[in-house]
Amino acid sequence: METKRGTIQERLDQAIRKVPNFPKPGILFYDLTGILMNPSVYQECLQALMEPVIRFKGNALAAIEARGFLFAAPLAQQLGIPLILVRKKGKLPGKTISKTFDLEYGTDTIEVHREDVRPEFRIVLVDDLIATGGTLKAAISLIEEAGSKVVGVVSVVGLPFLKFRERLGNLPVHTLLEYHTE
Ligand code: AMP
Repeated sequence: METKRGTIQERLDQAIRKVPNFPKPGILFYDLTGILMNPSVYQECLQALMEPVIRFKGNALAAIEARGFLFAAPLAQQLGIPLILVRKKGKLPGKTISKTFDLEYGTDTIEVHREDVRPEFRIVLVDDLIATGGTLKAAISLIEEAGSKVVGVVSVVGLPFLKFRERLGNLPVHTLLEYHTE
């Protein structure tokens, strides 16, 4: 069997396109579409995200629209556990519970189907990239208000200089790759 050279972090880093000044001046955008274009890196990434979900004893996943879905859906499928979608306001047809939170400019509202959030769930939130952690923080309080426990967060990329760990308090956060420059 052929063995892989280098580390998973090196393979993910190679697959991630860095786009300066997108979507606005001063932002370095980490574009994860290259992971989706490389099935072996995508699979390796999903495999690596499984370990912390199991360690956190998660029995359901939740993911935030839209890029979080790309990692959460195959992960939930491979683990054989349910997936709750956290969507922008007005997209879910059933009875919902919602949360409005502050953005840099203005506010945003996220929703979940009320009946999907069950008291027996130990939910792990999945995202593509954690920047400030502001959206995740809103999703955590939404899920907890709706009646489930959030036991951890997993993400492909983390930007710790934006202080997401401080914002998420004591909740365990597992990222596969971190970038440390602004
Ligand atoms: P935040 O609430 O600040 O953690 O960011 C919310 C979402 O915006 C993340 O889950 C990413 O999908 C996206 N995002 C924020 N900053 C970046 C960035 N520098 N590169 C790529 N995606 C980003």
